Amino acid sequence: MTIKIFNTINKKKEIFEPVNHKKIYMYVCGPTVYSHPHIGNARAAIIPDVLLRVLRKNYDEVIYIRNITDVDDKISDAAFKQGKTVQEISNKYIDIYQKNMSSLGLIDPTYQPRVTDNMPAIIETITKIIENGSAYISEGHVIFDTQKYKNYGELSKRTLDEMIDGARIDIASYKKSPRDFILWKPSSDKQPGWASPWGNGRPGWHIECTSMIKNIVGCDSTLDIHGGGNDLIFPHHENEIAQGSCMSSAKYCNYWFHNGIVLVNKKKMSKSIGNVILVDDLVKRFDPRSIRLALLSAHYRQPLNWSDSTITEANNLLKKFIILAKSSPPEVELEQDCNTEIIDILSDDLNTPEAIKYLSSIAKSAKKNNNDLAKLISSTNFIGIDLLLEDKSKSNDNIDKEFVEKLIKERLEARLAGNYEKADEIREKLSSMNISIKDLEGTSVWDYNPD
Ligand SMILES: [Zn+2]
Repeated sequence: MTIKIFNTINKKKEIFEPVNHKKIYMYVCGPTVYSHPHIGNARAAIIPDVLLRVLRKNYDEVIYIRNITDVDDKISDAAFKQGKTVQEISNKYIDIYQKNMSSLGLIDPTYQPRVTDNMPAIIETITKIIENGSAYISEGHVIFDTQKYKNYGELSKRTLDEMIDGARIDIASYKKSPRDFILWKPSSDKQPGWASPWGNGRPGWHIECTSMIKNIVGCDSTLDIHGGGNDLIFPHHENEIAQGSCMSSAKYCNYWFHNGIVLVNKKKMSKSIGNVILVDDLVKRFDPRSIRLALLSAHYRQPLNWSDSTITEANNLLKKFIILAKSSPPEVELEQDCNTEIIDILSDDLNTPEAIKYLSSIAKSAKKNNNDLAKLISSTNFIGIDLLLEDKSKSNDNIDKEFVEKLIKERLEARLAGNYEKADEIREKLSSMNISIKDLEGTSVWDYNPD
C-alpha cells in the first residue's frame, strides 16, 4: 500500500519511500517536563501515533522515538518556585505525561530517550560540529555558526532577514550573527551542569534532539520521518537540520511531518487568558476515547478549534458506536482485512476527518449488517479506540464531583437571573458528561448515568 505524507520541506504531499524497507525510523519531539500536558501536547502525540499505526501496517519494523527534555531553564524555574530539585520536578511531570498519554490510548514509543541520559552523545555531537568548523567557542558558550551552513532556512523557507528578526530577541555578545544559536552554555553552581571540554554547562535545546536521533539511527544514517508541532519548524527543526548536516554527510531527514495548533474557542491557549485545557482535567470528565476522537476530528495540518461542542459531538458519536459494538452478537468474527478501507483513507496524508466520516457511514448500516459492524469495531480499533473496552468512567469514582457541583451552581444562578439560555447550555454540558439533573425547590440534584 502507498502511504502519502505532506512533507514540510518540499511543501507537498509525497509518496513515502523509506531509507530501508526493513526498518523505519520516526522521531517526534517530546515534552519538556515542567507542567501538566495540555490538549495541544496531546494532539502532538496522538497524530504521530496514528501515523505509526499506518506505518506498522505496511512495514515489519517501525522504530518510534519520542524524547523527553528533562533539563531546561523552564524546569529549573519550576523547581525553584516549588522548592524542589530539577529531578523531582522532571520525574513528577514525566510520570503525569506518561499516564495522560497512555489514558488516551497511545502506543509506547520504542525509545523515549531522556536528555540527562544522553550527555556523552550530546558532547560527542557538539565536538564533531566544532571539528567540522561549523561552530565556535565564545565566552564559555559553544555557538553554531549559521554562515557555515549554506542551506540554512531550507525547511522554514524564511529569508535571511526574517530569520534575523526572529532571533533578534536572542542577540547576545557571544554571537557572531543574531541567527547563530547555542549548542552548549555554561552553568552556575545553582544550575544543572555537566563536565565538558568547554567547562561545566548544559546543552541548548536543538542539539539534544539531533544527538538523540543520531545516537539511535546512526551518525551516517538518514532519519525517515521527523514530526512535531508546526510551531517547532523554526527555529527548532531548522537548527536540527543545520546541526545534523554539519556533523555528517548523510542527509538529516527525508520527511518532515508537522501538526497544527489547538485553539480554544478560536483563541490561542495561554496561561494569561486562563484558557489552557489540561489532559488531566479532561480525562476526569470525559471518556478518554472521546477526547482522542475529538483530537482527530480536524485534519492534522489544520488548526483544531476546541470548544464544548467538539468534545460533546465526539462523545455522542462514541456513545453511538459503543452501543452498536456492545450489541455485537458473539459470532461476529473480526476478519483480518475488515479495516482496509480506513487504512486506505489514513494512508492518504492521515485524513482523519474522512476516516471519522467513514466510521459514521458504516455505523448506519452496522445495525443490520454484521459485516459492517465488524468493520466498525475493527476500524475504530485501528485508530486507537477500543469500543469493546469496559468503560472505566462507569465507576462514579472517576467523576470530578467538584466540577459537577460548580456547574450546577452556575446553572442555578443563571436560572435565578432568568438566563435560561445559559442554564440550558450548562444542562447540555452536564448531559454530555452523562450527568442528569433534576430541579427541586431552589436546588438541583444530580445523578451519573453512563448508559
Ligand atoms: Zn526536538
